Amino acid sequence: MNSSTRSCSTSFGVVTLLGIILVLLPLGAEGFAQSEEDQRAWLRSLDSLSSERMLADVRTLSGPSFNGRQAGSEDDLRSAAWVTDQFRASRISLAFVPLDRLNIPPGGKGDVRTGFMSKPHQAVVIAPEPTLQISTARIPDNQRLGTDFLPVLDSPSAHASAPIVFVGYGIVDAASNMNDYAGIDVNNCIVLFLRGKPDHFKGTITHADKVRVARQKGAVGYLTATGPVLSSYEIRRGMTGQPSAFYGLSPTPDNLPGAWISGSRAVQIIAGADHSNQERLRSLQEQLNRTSESRSFLTEYFGALEWESQQEQSPLINVIALLPGTDPQLTHETIVIGAHRDHFGRQAGLLFPGADDNASGTAVMLEVARAMAKAGAHPGRTILFISFSGEEQGLVGSRLYLERQVVPLALTRTMINIDHAGVGNGRLTVGVTGLEKSVALEAGQTAGLTDKLDVYGFFPGGDHVPFKEAGVPTITVVSGGVHPHFHQPTDTAETINPEILQTVARYVLALTWQLANAP
Ligand SMILES: [Zn+2]
Repeated sequence: MNSSTRSCSTSFGVVTLLGIILVLLPLGAEGFAQSEEDQRAWLRSLDSLSSERMLADVRTLSGPSFNGRQAGSEDDLRSAAWVTDQFRASRISLAFVPLDRLNIPPGGKGDVRTGFMSKPHQAVVIAPEPTLQISTARIPDNQRLGTDFLPVLDSPSAHASAPIVFVGYGIVDAASNMNDYAGIDVNNCIVLFLRGKPDHFKGTITHADKVRVARQKGAVGYLTATGPVLSSYEIRRGMTGQPSAFYGLSPTPDNLPGAWISGSRAVQIIAGADHSNQERLRSLQEQLNRTSESRSFLTEYFGALEWESQQEQSPLINVIALLPGTDPQLTHETIVIGAHRDHFGRQAGLLFPGADDNASGTAVMLEVARAMAKAGAHPGRTILFISFSGEEQGLVGSRLYLERQVVPLALTRTMINIDHAGVGNGRLTVGVTGLEKSVALEAGQTAGLTDKLDVYGFFPGGDHVPFKEAGVPTITVVSGGVHPHFHQPTDTAETINPEILQTVARYVLALTWQLANAP
């Protein structure tokens, strides 16, 4: 038994007192429709959760052999096979997914396995040693990869050299009377736009929208940066001006080569060639945040973007396993536990291991499945475990599942999503939609984690979103606090805190049991 099991519970600390514990369990007004033996099994499963095993799984998944698990790559397929093996080793049934065979090449890479839900997917890989120069007319200045810039990961090959034009947030929207391109010609230029949007802009705007407009206006490339004035969301997420890995998700005809540059590089470009006005970008951003008036101008700098990117086509794979329900009244209904497995792979010569994002959630999901199967805990409803791919590329795997549901959505009572479960401040951020928050709090009480939960409504971003949009109640579980290695090559297993894995697993197991057996 590890230390976190000891420290986080008042009523579950000593497994030998099972009888007493059963009396103390907060069964709620209705109680669970479970036998005493099932309650014992569930307590055994809670007690068997192993942070060591989860950490070992995080190490494996984020290790060099899986190469960062990019969706639609050979590594996606191999990591899917590894997850399948874990389910098999724990004697958890793989789901039957009828369309599998159509999508895996016969005799191709790996076996045709049940439990695989796949579709062809185009993966883009940026070749090693991309370069970005940001220069005045006389002095070329090579930027450092990873620190000063990162190509946007689905960027096309770049061979662009042009003057840099600042275009504010890069938004054109007639309804809001916003035009960051008013009175400025960006034809054959590289535009620089800030990430996000000003508070007064009430519409929605995506990165792909900004890229499309830049292309329509004749730009040959773009740079994007987090401005010095952070939104409250950016502050809460612990965002810095550092460039992060991400997919721009622009459709091919609209796409442009682009890079995320650091906030300090953006400040330098705006300050002018003589470096005189270091506060100018902040002041421009404050003005942009106050009114919709354009603040765009031609800077004194040139940009030069140079890299190759290749497209690869390979299947994207969700792995689906299940623990069948045993209550005749409930067994046709299901609780889904999902965690995305994919990350960014090896890009621009940098490995993105994705330990916290989201080898951690995958390890928690596997451990919860193992613990329930091994202890012989029989849930009333069927529990579906889904290892999603393609989350980082626009929730492709969870959207694929919704197209080909294994259990009809009308019978899917709740979707629990686990993401970023290995780093943070020891608290849990729980986002609830379509259910009373008391459901999430009750599970915290059962798990002995009442004082560690922060329960909110909708949590933006993640594989629960397509389920929520389809009307399925969702509960998202994320480790609270700052995740300093978010979308960085430094998101390694060494930064993972096993006690946090344990806390998340304990909570998810309690929540699953509660939802699987609630009347
Ligand atoms: Zn991510």
